[in-house]
Amino acid sequence: MPVLRQLTACSAPATHVVEGRSRKKRRALEYRVEVCAGHRWLARHWPGRHSTREPGGRCGAMMDHRAYARVVQSHVEVWIGPLTAQDLQAHDGDVAAALRAAHRWLQDGARGEIWHAVAAALGHAAWVAEAVVSGLVEVEAGERQVLAALSAAEAIDGTARGV
Ligand SMILES: [Zn+2]
Repeated sequence: MPVLRQLTACSAPATHVVEGRSRKKRRALEYRVEVCAGHRWLARHWPGRHSTREPGGRCGAMMDHRAYARVVQSHVEVWIGPLTAQDLQAHDGDVAAALRAAHRWLQDGARGEIWHAVAAALGHAAWVAEAVVSGLVEVEAGERQVLAALSAAEAIDGTARGV
């Protein structure tokens, strides 16, 4: 099952599609991102096949089929890192530690209610990631919850940034 993400707060219908495919696994679909004409710049950095064929959804809609670690890495690269200056490498790949550090950074520096909302959503993602580590939730179910929380945080971040 893909993880559904929302990269923009734009309600325009999508006109442009990027499909990323695996180089190893028989070119399996890794992600599909749809954007409107005004947000094509957002998709410019996404590797894959760019086309205007059959966009079916709303601008910013992303179906992410990749494994847990790569989806988390993508969140860090796309918005958590630019926003909070945190990355996974600085925490030896420890997802829970990186998310907690990003949450603290944002909580301390948040200016305005919308940024506190992003911080709260990120804090929830961090808590679930910590619960996976401590065994409070099963790994597979917990990782799904982390990704759902990150999707919500990302959508609020998009609204906060006005993209
Ligand atoms: Zn748009």
